Amino acid sequence: MGIGSKVEEWYHQNGRQLPWRDTYDPYQIWIAEVILQQTRIEQGVGYFYKFIERFPNVQELASAELDEVLKYWEGLGYYSRARNLHAAAGQLVDQYAGNFPEHHSELVKLKGIGPYTSRAIGSFAFANPTGVIDGNVLRVMSRVLGDSSPINQQKTRKNFQEIIDQWVEGQNSRAFNHGIMDIGATICTPRKPGCMICPLVGSCVAYDKGLTQLLPYKEKKLKRSQKYLQFFLPEPTIPKLPIRQRPKEGIWGGLWEIPNVEVDLELWKKKESSYGGNYLTEFKHILTHLDLHIQVFELKGIEKIDWGEVQFISKEEIPKFAFSKAVLKIFDKTVY
Ligand code: SF4
Repeated sequence: MGIGSKVEEWYHQNGRQLPWRDTYDPYQIWIAEVILQQTRIEQGVGYFYKFIERFPNVQELASAELDEVLKYWEGLGYYSRARNLHAAAGQLVDQYAGNFPEHHSELVKLKGIGPYTSRAIGSFAFANPTGVIDGNVLRVMSRVLGDSSPINQQKTRKNFQEIIDQWVEGQNSRAFNHGIMDIGATICTPRKPGCMICPLVGSCVAYDKGLTQLLPYKEKKLKRSQKYLQFFLPEPTIPKLPIRQRPKEGIWGGLWEIPNVEVDLELWKKKESSYGGNYLTEFKHILTHLDLHIQVFELKGIEKIDWGEVQFISKEEIPKFAFSKAVLKIFDKTVY
């Protein structure tokens, strides 16, 4: 039995039941895939239901205000995903009459839809005969093949894509892809793979040669960037909080924030700000390629400083606006 058949057969008996696996609706599959890209399944399920309830189809999403879409994304992080969903929904309405193109080579032209998501929608909604490679699948493939090429290199992914597309041939693409993802997530785990219960044990080079602990291989990443930021809150006696909206492009694009400035490490270490104010707290906030070191100050006369285009809101109004996780952490750690 070939690898494709082994995976598919295993899936039919052991596959995970997930809410978005019951549907062939490309819209719901798309939303689920995007939510799950940087989010654990347990956390993602709640967001998925809430999002689908408010924006049940492409048309509803396209006609919503971006601000509201961001609000539904609040707390998930990686907000470019929500901005891209909104933009791609607009593309689908304008260019495809609100319908999804059925092949991954067309889907990939939509904003924010890359090789992974286009293939996931293509396979799960339209039975495209193509493999869908996520991080778990990369691990399974590198072990089954006994291949030590760095899995974080484009060349390796391209090569693996060609191989997995051969494995899918003649299989039910949706069942195969769900199956290989589930094997990666539940059996071929990073530290202690359960080779004894794995349907691929008879075809696995890493198992055969005792290489499971050495694969997959990843090339070391460059040093992460560091940024030092100081955020400002009004004194507790001042009932209004100044907030402003960030530009659409770049980090936290389109989200709301409280006044803040980037400072150099020297000033940051002193726990002083160039505006004065009382130091309240500090913490580290980690983004994909960047560590943010955040200090928070309480600033007398904050309302008199020119922070650009600000609105003043009361504490009760905070939930009406979409803030980044970092700003929500600031509210959590202070009286706000
Ligand atoms: S046999 Fe072990 S190492 Fe190979 S794919 Fe299965 S779980 Fe992973």
